[in-house]
Amino acid sequence: ANRKLIAGNWKMNGLKADALDLASDLAGRLKGAGPVAFDMLVCPPFPLLFPVGEAIADSPLALGGQDCAPKTSGAHTGDVAPTMLKDAGCRFVILGHSERRADHGESDAVVNAKAVAAHKEGLVAIICVGETEAQRDAGQANAVVSGQLAGSIPAGATADNTVIAYEPVWAIGTGKTATPDDVKAMHAHIRAELDGKIAGSAKVRILYGGSVKPSNAAELMAVENVDGALVGGASLKADDFWAIGTAC
Ligand code: 13P
Repeated sequence: ANRKLIAGNWKMNGLKADALDLASDLAGRLKGAGPVAFDMLVCPPFPLLFPVGEAIADSPLALGGQDCAPKTSGAHTGDVAPTMLKDAGCRFVILGHSERRADHGESDAVVNAKAVAAHKEGLVAIICVGETEAQRDAGQANAVVSGQLAGSIPAGATADNTVIAYEPVWAIGTGKTATPDDVKAMHAHIRAELDGKIAGSAKVRILYGGSVKPSNAAELMAVENVDGALVGGASLKADDFWAIGTAC
């Protein structure tokens, strides 16, 4: 089994004081815990990356961005380059989250180009995929995810520079979680799709996301081919996020 990655996607939440409290609390727990069975990552909003990065610099808690531009620099107002994420101390970047696909019309091709740019800077791209409820009801979940994987994963992807996050859109922020059987089936499907696309595909970490919380984490993290969690709401409280980690 792959080492678990417990990733917190803070989305558009928190101001500096809360962010520093939360990140310092988690960093302290990680440092004090000794060897743990998981890697832990927080992905704050852009303006908080530098202060949070400084606050956790001497801890094993990793830092990530929630998006990046497909370019290194230049006339791209409002965009943030992967070099800037690196500069702030990031090792990871979330790409193609369903909220960006929906709110900003990000296509698979855009996600692919962003992943290329992230890889060029040595960042690990967490590429998000997942079907809507209507697509699942129509029996298209596997096909939709296959298409997203085919379009979003760049040629240079490896087990070291790429993580896949399966987040069924209907399970995000709804309190509805996919059943362990559904998660098992989809993660097996994704694993099979990665074979041939990425060398050493068995080592690519596949995260589950969508209403992960302390009460369902142990059950979900025990599912075959689930190599961690991408957590939204429950990553904003140190006790909850830590409990998800220790459920691994
Ligand atoms: P919730 O954990 O709030 O459902 O969000 C999941 C998510 O979208 C993480 O990226």
